Amino acid sequence: MHKYWGIFMALMLLASCKEDNASQETQGKKEELAIVHVPIIVKQYGFNFDDFTVQHDTVRNGDSFGELMLSNKVDYPKIAKITQDYKDTFDVRKIRVGKPYVILKSKDTTEQAQVFIYENDAINFTVVDLRDSVVAYKDRKEVKYVEREASGIIATSLSEAILEQGIDYNVTNNLSDIYAWTIDFFRLQKGDKFKVIYKEKYINDSIYAGAEPIEAAFFEHNGTPIYAFAYENDSLKSIVDYFDEEANNLRRTFLRAPVKFSRISSRYNLKRRIRYYGYKLRPHKGTDYAAPIGTPIMATADGTVTESTRKGGNGKYVKIRHNGTYSTQYLHMKKQNVRKGEFVRQGDVIGWVGMTGNTGGPHVCYRFWRNGRQVDPLKEELPLAEPLAEALRPDYFEFIAPLKEQLDCIEYIEKPKEEELLTLNQ
Ligand SMILES: [Zn+2]
Repeated sequence: MHKYWGIFMALMLLASCKEDNASQETQGKKEELAIVHVPIIVKQYGFNFDDFTVQHDTVRNGDSFGELMLSNKVDYPKIAKITQDYKDTFDVRKIRVGKPYVILKSKDTTEQAQVFIYENDAINFTVVDLRDSVVAYKDRKEVKYVEREASGIIATSLSEAILEQGIDYNVTNNLSDIYAWTIDFFRLQKGDKFKVIYKEKYINDSIYAGAEPIEAAFFEHNGTPIYAFAYENDSLKSIVDYFDEEANNLRRTFLRAPVKFSRISSRYNLKRRIRYYGYKLRPHKGTDYAAPIGTPIMATADGTVTESTRKGGNGKYVKIRHNGTYSTQYLHMKKQNVRKGEFVRQGDVIGWVGMTGNTGGPHVCYRFWRNGRQVDPLKEELPLAEPLAEALRPDYFEFIAPLKEQLDCIEYIEKPKEEELLTLNQ
């Protein structure tokens, strides 16, 4: 019985977070919808496909609009009219191999083409209506945004916790980007929690077309909660940054790591001893991130490339001078992607993980200098990025208030244990 008590408690919490009236109303509507049966006419590209014989195809090598139409019993004057009078709407010479098209034919035995629909891209299409007088026009599919909330408690990894719930992989990427400066994703712990609010994009109500950037997030790492709200910091340049509930910028001038989703294989350690060298003291003044060969290596901050070369044990490497205080270096690359003297932005790919130089396996050795001395970047208090301008703060706090409440109301979805699933299924 106690098991159901838990579920009951969860429902109570849910109810206290939502407006009671609203939720009852929706429930009533749902029941009504369940009883009434209305035939649904689904229109595609503005046409009821039931009225036609439908041919879906893609443009092949050697296809031309004229040939396609002639073989579907469209007479030559009509083809000529489209080609000449509607050049601006539909340039028949520009149909591309591989693009999908639809021909709607009459349902009678003639199967004459009535409508030709060409997909310019996933959203935009062109209609050539060959019935009566010929016309061509451009249209676009209906794009709908559906808000989605998600949450999770990490058991193994962030990507697994997110994928488990059928959430877009881009959300994982986005979430780790938002917190890249404040949370060391290589030290995530079992029991760390997250919540996100974002929108999913759908074409014609049904075709999933990807996740939009996260609007608000919450991450609890090692018992420390960090909120993140997307806010346009600079409306002129439309720069969106993420800020916490006190309007602190979550961005730092340095990324926590030069690679995404790898693991630290060796930390900065001045007292390291290596068996190979007879347990002699071999200090390790870098942090090693193990990752598959070819993994992109990112500049952890803006700066100028001072070295991009190959030298002894370092193998192929890049060194960047960020300012008078900080420099970073990235060793054992498969290949560099920048040259000496080049200016790079934070997150730019400067090379790829390899095994050049003195290394037992594919990894990037990341070295960090402060005032000419090599230090452990994971223990450094890194400088903060620009804070939110004083003038924008009142608007910001007003903007985030409902989002924060919404976040606080999201429940964590715990994965039911297998035995519980069995009981529920019986
Ligand atoms: Zn190293």
